[in-house]
Amino acid sequence: MLRDNIKSTYPVHVMINPSYEPVESEGKQADYESCYSVSSKAGKVPRYQTIKIRYADEKGHEHQQIETGFYARVLQHEIDHLNGVLISDRLTPDCIQGTVEEMMVMRRNELSKEKQALFDEIMKKKMEK
Ligand SMILES: [Zn+2]
Repeated sequence: MLRDNIKSTYPVHVMINPSYEPVESEGKQADYESCYSVSSKAGKVPRYQTIKIRYADEKGHEHQQIETGFYARVLQHEIDHLNGVLISDRLTPDCIQGTVEEMMVMRRNELSKEKQALFDEIMKKKMEK
């Protein structure tokens, strides 16, 4: 995997009325994000490393759990959408940002040689779609 902070994959799942509280002591980390809703901009968005997520499942059962790393980032991004917040709101002037193409080049350059090869393979597959 390209990202080092993915601890596992998750099957497709339903979260009803999700919300989260940050685990402030774990801090924030800026990492590359883009969004299908914002085609003109991407960048390194600061997000909490660890969050406590609350949601109901499709049977109405309440859940709360601690999530970290990339999945915590994805949850924060998607919950932002529910609250009308886009990455363009999160990309403050102090954030590294630019077009999706510029950010793809920067992101690739920050990867190890092995991961650059994987990145190229993934991008090639995406372009074929
Ligand atoms: Zn999005």
